[in-house]
Amino acid sequence: NDWIPVKQARLAESAGQPCEVRGWVRTRRDSKGGFSFIEVNDGSCMGNLQVVAPGELDNYVDEIQKLTAGCSVVVQGELQVSPAKGQATELHASAVRVLGWADPESYPLQKKRHSFEKLREWAHLRTRTNTLGAVMRVRDQICQSIHRFFHENGFLYVNTPIITASDCEGAGEMFRVTTLDLERLAKSGGPVDYSFDFFDKPTFLTVSGQLEGETYATSLGRIYTFGPTFRAENSNTSRHLAEFWMIEPEAAFFDLADNMQLAERFLKQVFSDCLNRCEEDMAFFDQRIEKGKIEQIRAVIDKPFQHMTYTEAIKVLESSGQKFDYQIAWGSDLQAEHERYLTEQHVGGPLILTDYPSTIKPFYMRVSDDEKTVAAMDVLVPGVGEIIGGSQREERLDVLRKRMAAQSLSEDDYWWYIDLRKYGTVPHAGFGLGLERAVQYVTGMTNIRDVIPFPRTPGNAEF
Ligand code: ATP
Ligand code: MG
Ligand code: MG
Ligand code: MG
Repeated sequence: NDWIPVKQARLAESAGQPCEVRGWVRTRRDSKGGFSFIEVNDGSCMGNLQVVAPGELDNYVDEIQKLTAGCSVVVQGELQVSPAKGQATELHASAVRVLGWADPESYPLQKKRHSFEKLREWAHLRTRTNTLGAVMRVRDQICQSIHRFFHENGFLYVNTPIITASDCEGAGEMFRVTTLDLERLAKSGGPVDYSFDFFDKPTFLTVSGQLEGETYATSLGRIYTFGPTFRAENSNTSRHLAEFWMIEPEAAFFDLADNMQLAERFLKQVFSDCLNRCEEDMAFFDQRIEKGKIEQIRAVIDKPFQHMTYTEAIKVLESSGQKFDYQIAWGSDLQAEHERYLTEQHVGGPLILTDYPSTIKPFYMRVSDDEKTVAAMDVLVPGVGEIIGGSQREERLDVLRKRMAAQSLSEDDYWWYIDLRKYGTVPHAGFGLGLERAVQYVTGMTNIRDVIPFPRTPGNAEF
């Protein structure tokens, strides 16, 4: 009796085989005919395997008839063609072993449907529900696709540091790293005491691996990073986390047009992998979370992304007649509401916005001749807004120095970054995709807290 995942046991071609299945009970129903139906799920797919447990089993009365949602079981038996609708097979049990009980009085995941908000309180159990299980399988597929895409396109996977001294985005959203020696802290008093910091220097959790990634791109050509990223976002939105995962490709000899093309090809590949490899889960999202999601993604894959400059976008927004919470004008950053209007109402699909004002973008983006705008590109999608932020980088030494001075950045802190322009500088470009925002878009889940295993938001770091 070989163990197989439920996903495999559910296939018609598995009928006729003896097998063992291991998982958690979703429901149990006793039939008048003196046997029980037990729905078992093991996370390998959304569907449950129906186990038919005959009354003749030794532990039928003592154990099987006491099974409730959440109990863990090992079932041995033979897979047979199921006469019931919606399932190809069912497992006729010759043995049902109970590994762990789940007290129905206290087990939180009863039949009743809980709100996603409620489920967040049980982050340790919520992946036993259909929706969260499906989210995590799609999330896994997206991660696998990302690696595959870059690998196939000649990008080298590099790991940039988590602890760093540079504030890449300059947005003041960094978490400080400290040894948190409370006794020393109590004794110190006086001015800022850096001896509590990492090796006596102020250091932070990374907000982006880009600057370090650039050093690799300007030696190895094409690279990408894929790691955890931290931002002290003290806001409560449906698309910001304090800890999220970012994918950051960086390519030498790339300009903004190459960068936009790469981003589009990349997203389309990831989206189509989700449709092709997560069919059951995507069908669920399509029916239960966002109606028409599959058609929407198919259309996105088939059509070229639309492009627009920031300046054009401002004109569209200003003449939209739309009442926004935050009135937009040239020179200020777009908010989610503006990004969603542009994608959902104006173009009806993804949109790449380019050439943002230099004043709202970080120092490393390549400035235009009049210095008013930078070669930036954001990819916006319906439902979420920005999922990618990228740019062509400033490769001209003199211009970079000027930009740094204007933003009061010290050359001493960034000497290594400046070196990349001093020695064999090349045009280069890259972007950052927020993994969770990509998962949000593909699944249609509205809150980013529901697409990451353990969301980190203000007041939320217990486990
Ligand atoms: P936003 O405008 O939504 O605050 P940003 O412009 O600050 O995002 P970037 O610095 O451009 O973000 O980061 C690149 C990508 O990382 C974003 O396009 C987004 O997908 C993702 N991202 C940024 N901040 C967060 C966050 N706090 N939580 C989750 N994902 C994020
Ligand atoms: Mg931000
Ligand atoms: Mg932004
Ligand atoms: Mg951005």
